[in-house]
Amino acid sequence: MKRWSIYLFKVFGIRLELHATFILLVGWYLFMGFRDGGVEAATTRTVSLLIIFTTVVLHELGHCLVARRFDIKIPRIIILPIGGMAQFSRMPREPRQEFLITAAGPGVNFAIITILLLVPGYDPGFLLNTLDVRSHLDLLFIANLAMGLFNLLPVFPMDGGRLLRAAMAAKLPYLTSTRIAFELARVLAFCGMLFFLYHHHYLGVALLGFVFVAGRLEYHHVRDSEEIGDHTIGDVMRSHFLILPEDARISDAARFDPGFAPFDFIIVAPSGGPRGVITMQAVKLAVKEGFGDELLKAHLQSPAKNLQAEWPLKVYARGFRKQKTLHPVLYNDRIVGVLDTQAFREILKGRNQR
Ligand SMILES: [Zn+2]
Repeated sequence: MKRWSIYLFKVFGIRLELHATFILLVGWYLFMGFRDGGVEAATTRTVSLLIIFTTVVLHELGHCLVARRFDIKIPRIIILPIGGMAQFSRMPREPRQEFLITAAGPGVNFAIITILLLVPGYDPGFLLNTLDVRSHLDLLFIANLAMGLFNLLPVFPMDGGRLLRAAMAAKLPYLTSTRIAFELARVLAFCGMLFFLYHHHYLGVALLGFVFVAGRLEYHHVRDSEEIGDHTIGDVMRSHFLILPEDARISDAARFDPGFAPFDFIIVAPSGGPRGVITMQAVKLAVKEGFGDELLKAHLQSPAKNLQAEWPLKVYARGFRKQKTLHPVLYNDRIVGVLDTQAFREILKGRNQR
């Protein structure tokens, strides 16, 4: 995948990259400064940008340096118009680790504020007055305060939402904690977007929209890996099935109704290769509707795509969520079961609870 970013330099061995959209935004901002106020305004803006940029990078480095202590590798930090994003080799799954790594980001911002307050003669009085930034130190102060506080909003996957998830995950299952954090984020992001829209802050709307999308992606990812884990197709397939030749009729299949367990019919070609699957339920329905004399193969619920029992389920799970299909499952060229893509999630739940 193309990354659309420019490599700057390395800090603590981590590549620092600027995303193209960030560079465009900076260029536009500086150009407008130059157009309106000449070199002087452009210079002031450059310094201001450097202060904000440094704040963002230090915040990300806070996360990264703590993450490294838990053997997480961080190849790069990318700076986007909406802030920085550190790329982790893996997400911390352990609540205590996630809590510490996450807290370190805003922690850096509040540490900088504390240091500023200790600078002899520095007075953050502008906060109480008109919020009118008079100096670069004021800007450094407000940038860190805003970044620290904003990131602590409990909107997953922003830092506040992560801290909340980690705190819950200490007591509740990881997936449940993630789901609650995401549901809360959904509500808050929606309210926040309405608020920003009302005040015509379109960057705020875009930012929260992005946060929402990122949160949903991460929640789905957690759901997949928690539910599916290392299961294979063979782990969740159904193995109550009967093989019938392709000239078998609906009424032939109906005679095999065992009446106690879900049952599938796999129709095979004369060569022995599976043609498709039809469930007992569908056979009963077809009989009721008067199709008893018709061929089974005319009623197959989906064309056969043969799966192998040893294949990891993870690979297929995503495509399976939306559609209901039935697949014959093979092992060493023998038919061993049926994967019902709609039911497999339920089956997994049962297995995981054991
Ligand atoms: Zn952060």
